Amino acid sequence: MNKSLRRAVIAGNWKMNETRAEAKALLEEMVPSILNADCDIVFCVPYTNLETVADMTRVTRIKVGAENVHYASSGAFTGEISAEMLCELGVRYVIVGHSERRRFYGDTDETVNLRAKATINAGMTAIICVGEMLSEREHGVTNEVVAMQTKIALEGIKQESMKNVIIAYEPVWAIGTGRTPTVQQANDVCKLIRNTVADLYDQATADSLTILYGGSMNPKNCEELLSEPDIDGGLIGGSSLKADEFSAIVAVASRLGYGKDAPKAEGE
Ligand code: PEP
Repeated sequence: MNKSLRRAVIAGNWKMNETRAEAKALLEEMVPSILNADCDIVFCVPYTNLETVADMTRVTRIKVGAENVHYASSGAFTGEISAEMLCELGVRYVIVGHSERRRFYGDTDETVNLRAKATINAGMTAIICVGEMLSEREHGVTNEVVAMQTKIALEGIKQESMKNVIIAYEPVWAIGTGRTPTVQQANDVCKLIRNTVADLYDQATADSLTILYGGSMNPKNCEELLSEPDIDGGLIGGSSLKADEFSAIVAVASRLGYGKDAPKAEGE
């Protein structure tokens, strides 16, 4: 299917970076250069910066995202944040199942599924991260691992809710390392994700699903990656903290021009 019918998304993942003052300074530098972008832009930021980013992007089309969410709606979960709490602050997107959450905080395919459902039920869009570890790629089981993560993450999510799902393919060994798969390898896995979604739902659902690539995307390699037929955008860590680099990636996505005929997201 024509890429122009899928929403192109460039999402930054700030991780545990930027105090409130630093966030303000970064946005002041970055926002003017991405205001007229022809793609969706999301800043996924630490909880403490959500309100600041929401306030500073209110009159723009830039959207605010969180980096995690708890799956219960309330209760005795000290230190956790619910989907409703995020929504109330103007959050529209939530990253779930990032490999750092899986590795350091015990997130499993099952909890990723619960977090995705909590996000969607609150009316937000889940950016579900999947991806293989280096040893899995070396053992030749990348496709099996990514298909399994995708299937479990989507369990119980109805077809009509898939408009609130983005999947980010992030090979774990490419995150923050400067290493990337070849564009062919990256596209092959994104295509596998799309085929998995077609099997679970139908071809139309798969064709309209936005699939991002994440893992050391930067201004130098983004054009090649974003030009691939099954890569609809990027989830960007390191380069999202540098105004010039993030703006350059957004400019490339805008110039490539895909996603222009995609249905508008709610609220636009
Ligand atoms: C990420 O953390 O999701 C990521 C892709 O990081 P980086 O761009 O730094 O590899």
